[in-house]
Amino acid sequence: MANQIITNYCSTHCDFCFAVDSRRRMLRENHFQMDETEVRAWLDFTLRGGIRELRLLGGEPTMHPCFDKFVNLGREAGCTVTVFSNGVMSKPARSALAALDPEVCNVVINMSASCGNRELRIRQETLEMLGPRVSLGYTLTSAAFSFREAVTWIENYRLRRNIRIGLAHPTWQGANRALHPKCYPMIGQALLEQSFLTAEHGISLDADCGFVRCMFGNSFDRLTANGFRYISRCSPVLDLCTGGRIIPCFGLSNLFSLNQADFPDAEAAFQAMTERIRPLRTFGIYPECSKCVYFETEECCGGCIAARLRRLQPMGDR
Ligand code: SF4
Ligand code: SF4
Repeated sequence: MANQIITNYCSTHCDFCFAVDSRRRMLRENHFQMDETEVRAWLDFTLRGGIRELRLLGGEPTMHPCFDKFVNLGREAGCTVTVFSNGVMSKPARSALAALDPEVCNVVINMSASCGNRELRIRQETLEMLGPRVSLGYTLTSAAFSFREAVTWIENYRLRRNIRIGLAHPTWQGANRALHPKCYPMIGQALLEQSFLTAEHGISLDADCGFVRCMFGNSFDRLTANGFRYISRCSPVLDLCTGGRIIPCFGLSNLFSLNQADFPDAEAAFQAMTERIRPLRTFGIYPECSKCVYFETEECCGGCIAARLRRLQPMGDR
């Protein structure tokens, strides 16, 4: 898997955004957005590595003036298209996605993005127009959340019958508003409560990265029976940035990066990335992780690496 970060601009200012470090640095270095040559070069790089999916991210990727063109480039290369968006899209961007068969197009819309009334109206139009291409996503910053509205959107606009759930992870230097791992059990409990509603509607709940097994305690079986698709992974993929830079994920963007020029293809870069990350997988987000049976059996990955690194920093640096 690899994500192309085609623009560092965004139309919203979410305080939980864990791309904040990366975006700020890129903009400071005058890397505003990719041009077509760069997008093509990254596309070739991923195709050579055997990847047949074009994943577009930002900032807000649909703000790129050539967004529709990039979508078409991906399709011409035989790729499926996945877009991560706040849903506040221009008409050309929406039309480019609406023209694709839902089989080859997945638009993950983050419903937690901080939108004003005008943006909310545009986002609603996007849901209506893109219908079955859309998966709703939520970034959880506290245990006070409800999926009632999501269920209504899914039913009204025939969206995909899944909700992608992300925990608000920190950047490893803590530039954003993030969940402290001590809050995870409360999130687990709140998810259980919401899962009865989603189960009634046949909607599954898909865990994004950084979920841990112990946050669900005894509720785990009930939750999975209600359609929660548990997966515990912290798997930095390849985030392909302007200027030929490859970062493991936004949360770790200031930790290290690789250069496209050093690798023949995305697969080789992924292997190098995996090696660089390996030492960070030997401990978890809590002191007790190293003795945990779930960690030993890999039923739990030990949580978000950026959160693990936060744990190691002296209090004064936080
Ligand atoms: S490895 Fe750590 S985070 Fe995972 S279940 Fe065990 S104690 Fe919890
Ligand atoms: S460090 Fe791992 S869990 Fe944290 S944001 Fe990156 S990929 Fe996700």
